[in-house]
Amino acid sequence: MADKTAKSYTSDICFKCNIICCQDAKPPLTRQRQKIIEGYIKTRQLGITKLFLHGEYSFPAVNETGLCVFYDKKTRECLVHTVKPETCRAGPITFDINLKTGKIEWYLKTADICPLAGIMSNDSNLFKAHFKVAREEILRLVCELDGKALRAILKIEEPETFKIGEEDLPPEVLAKL
Ligand code: SF4
Repeated sequence: MADKTAKSYTSDICFKCNIICCQDAKPPLTRQRQKIIEGYIKTRQLGITKLFLHGEYSFPAVNETGLCVFYDKKTRECLVHTVKPETCRAGPITFDINLKTGKIEWYLKTADICPLAGIMSNDSNLFKAHFKVAREEILRLVCELDGKALRAILKIEEPETFKIGEEDLPPEVLAKL
């Protein structure tokens, strides 16, 4: 139920928002997630041929302007919404790993760059429900990614966010960093 509320907020607010966060997003993809998205695209015959790009880490292919290949310009929705990458699902909550403390730190985007984040800041029930989902998604992601990909992702700066919490990182994640 809580997730439905979050989804309707997301559809509504993201549709009206002028900031396209799927531009230059490059959300990390584990091998498992690539397989899931591949199957989803095939089943729905969405006709996207080039799905992923592979560098220091893998992410959805982008068009010539850097827009994610799964972004539907007409509806302004994600074509793979139900199976989208973990960091897309978690947004506007993001994360960082502090190697000194061994903790995963949680951040929320500022309202200036994400109206949904602004609403979450003022709606503790919505925030709690979304944080639960975001935390599960991100913890699964950091457990499944290999060390090289995770190190590459941690180099990406996420300005205009503020810290909302932290917790111990699973030891197996620390061990690969
Ligand atoms: S996978 Fe979907 S939500 Fe994520 S960047 Fe691409 S279009 Fe946006």
